[in-house]
Amino acid sequence: MNKKGSLEDIVSLAKRRGFIYPSSEIYGGLAGVFDYGPLGVRLKHNIQNLWWSSFVSGWDDMYPMDTAILMNKKVWEASGHASGFNDPMVECNNCKSRLRADHLRSDKCPVCGKEGTLSEPKQFNMMFKTTTGPVEGSTDLGANSPAAIIDEFSRGRVVNATEANTTYLRPETAQGMFVNFKNVVDSFYPDMPFGMAQVGKAFRNEISPRDFLFRLREMEQMEIEYFVAPELWQEKFNAFRDGMKKFFTMVGLPESMVHELEVSEEDRAHYSARTIDFEFEFPFGRKELAGLAYRTDYDLKKHQEVSGRSMVYMPKGGGAGFIPHVIEPSFGVERLFLAVLSAAYTHDEVNGEERMYLKLPKDVAPIKVAVFPLLKNKPELIEKANQVYDVLKKEIGEVMFDDNGNIGKRYRRQDEIGTPQTVTIDFQSLEDDTVTVRNRDTTEQKRMKIAELANSVN
Ligand code: ATP
Repeated sequence: MNKKGSLEDIVSLAKRRGFIYPSSEIYGGLAGVFDYGPLGVRLKHNIQNLWWSSFVSGWDDMYPMDTAILMNKKVWEASGHASGFNDPMVECNNCKSRLRADHLRSDKCPVCGKEGTLSEPKQFNMMFKTTTGPVEGSTDLGANSPAAIIDEFSRGRVVNATEANTTYLRPETAQGMFVNFKNVVDSFYPDMPFGMAQVGKAFRNEISPRDFLFRLREMEQMEIEYFVAPELWQEKFNAFRDGMKKFFTMVGLPESMVHELEVSEEDRAHYSARTIDFEFEFPFGRKELAGLAYRTDYDLKKHQEVSGRSMVYMPKGGGAGFIPHVIEPSFGVERLFLAVLSAAYTHDEVNGEERMYLKLPKDVAPIKVAVFPLLKNKPELIEKANQVYDVLKKEIGEVMFDDNGNIGKRYRRQDEIGTPQTVTIDFQSLEDDTVTVRNRDTTEQKRMKIAELANSVN
């Protein structure tokens, strides 16, 4: 028997074992926002580290960035997000639910079940609007220049929220890289093709956040903007397509659960000339996990047009300058996190008893090894176990010590969080410096010399 978990199983495990908590839960939470707990942070970092080694540090031509969440609002006007990042939304006159029009299959409200109660679709911009600087007070400067506003500030006056100090929380990390394209070219003078990469928060005011970590209002993305000469786009697109598939396998997603969807022209984002969505079989159905887009020269061209700064790349060996085209592999960290948990969640039977464990790849598992003294009330066992723990902690880092409850319970606790191996120190350990090492997946146990432990576990 080998069963997968439902979304409820995963949500409950994530909360109970300290992977994910609802944000500001003691006040009733906030829809579409979650916090990572101690094990969640580790799991997330492991996914991000694998991404980093697969797409950044393993490459000679990647330039990592960490750009600001807040940017001049002109960025969003140029990129098309201020006018084009819209979802059509309808409201149910009966239950007041707000729903994405493009997700509806009939004129029946999927929340209350009433027919004919849905309004006409209205456009809804998904960017979070905010203001910079103090906003209450006496002086309304209208759409005055930033210099005029600074002048007002310096005289100790505050201004009303105006168009001049409005900005947005970024809905994607990509634009921070496009607007720095010229900076990186000037600092490093890279050969073409080259890429910029970053991991960071993005915010979307989704109409109906749902399915746990799948549709959030605050999330993290891992994105690459890979700049190529126009004639090279297909070759690099295909290379990233293969790289993405390899990466999914590395984090433990079975090939059979990841599917490619060629996105049709009418469903593509405004900047894309080709998009492949990688879909995953989540517990609630097959949905987008990550995307690979050919953004053409759309973004750099728009920034050149609106900022008046040239985005032309001059080849080193001479030849005509050009605006590079862009291939963009884009990953949502939380969707990956959820996919990794869903793929790993396993029920099986051991000695006639049902157990649940997370079958996580070793590189992804938040804790690599746990150390147990067989009995809590024997100081000599505790001392030996502490010695083993110290050695492993130094060598491996993510090690847990557990002396609480019987050994069976401790095994179950580690299985639940996906710890690949556990080490038990018993009376024989005191005599011959050996310990019992148990494998999470097979539950097999073998005796091993303490001196060989770190090597074998690593
Ligand atoms: P969807 O169609 O599901 O709204 P999208 O096509 O708008 O997603 P992109 O703009 O391509 O998504 O964003 C890149 C990646 O960021 C997505 O593949 C996904 O992994 C992640 N992502 C986008 N929106 C969200 C969200 N609201 N919550 C969590 N992750 C998201």
